[in-house]
Amino acid sequence: MTTTTLETAQTQSANGSAAAEPLLSLRNLRTWFELRRWGFGRAGTVRAVDDVSFDLHAGEAIAIVGESGCGKSTLMKTILGLHRPTEGSVIFEGRDLSALDAKEMQWYRSQVGYVQQDPFGALPPFMDIRRILGEPLKIHGNMNESERRHRIREVMEEVRLTPVDDILPRFPHMLSGGQQQRVVIARAMLLHPRMIVADEPVSMLDMSVRVEVLRLLQGLQRTHNLAVVYITHDLSTVRYFSERIFVMYAGEIVEQSRMNDLLRNPLHPYTRALLAAIADPDPENAHVFRDVPPGEPPSLVNPPSGCRFHPRCTQFMENLCELETPLDFEPEPQHFSRCFLYQDAPAVS
Ligand code: SF4
Repeated sequence: MTTTTLETAQTQSANGSAAAEPLLSLRNLRTWFELRRWGFGRAGTVRAVDDVSFDLHAGEAIAIVGESGCGKSTLMKTILGLHRPTEGSVIFEGRDLSALDAKEMQWYRSQVGYVQQDPFGALPPFMDIRRILGEPLKIHGNMNESERRHRIREVMEEVRLTPVDDILPRFPHMLSGGQQQRVVIARAMLLHPRMIVADEPVSMLDMSVRVEVLRLLQGLQRTHNLAVVYITHDLSTVRYFSERIFVMYAGEIVEQSRMNDLLRNPLHPYTRALLAAIADPDPENAHVFRDVPPGEPPSLVNPPSGCRFHPRCTQFMENLCELETPLDFEPEPQHFSRCFLYQDAPAVS
């Protein structure tokens, strides 16, 4: 078994050559929270994000996939600068977020668009769409009134919120769920961001509009060379525009690879379970047994020893998986799995 660092391995491009400087780098990121019991002091530590590292390049789309409670939302908020890392760093364009002052954080927020899961909750109910889209331009931009009006119209047309004059005076409750999510996407795009963080952007939409919204995001990514961090529990939607996938379990990345490699040959037992859990619309297959693991994701306050998936794993190896913490093994080029099933492969630390 040979070892190298994960950062070195990740900054190799798909064909093995050194890649350009990343737009975003996470380095050994930990976001932990102290639990306090009133009057009794510390009650434990929630290890929501535990030693996560990856690079994201301009124009690249990645997906972070995992069940509720796996830490992906905390990871997203740490990337957005809403949580401070306990350890490690978030580096954007070579600048460490934790070293930015208030003015530089305002610059960072103009570079990163955020698409929320619940569009209705994300839009202020007492503002019309004209005002919702005008506010970020007033806060961050140095445009006059007419330039602002032009930019709002331009973005609305791009996200197909038309007819623009009809939509502008409406309030969020007067729009459909799909239109509300287009307003959220328009707001995220207003300031010409370099990166979009999309948190389950279609999970609250009707099935009929999900594909449209995913295709819209895909089109924006390609047109504007955007980096995208797409966060979801639903592996069936990642193929629309993600080039690499990171599978998260109990605060850790347990598998990462190019999307096609992961869908063709999932390595980690948890990833296989996630894929098995995708609903099959064919009624002919209703009787097919699905190899879904028993139990629930563990508490992040006191995660299991060794491999955190071991209490649920059908391939658990006694005297190993519960005692030792697996490294990121690389049984295929650029395809990493944190699992002892691949311990004969090269490993990164
Ligand atoms: Fe299962 Fe062991 Fe692999 Fe963990 S390390 S996923 S328990 S086989």
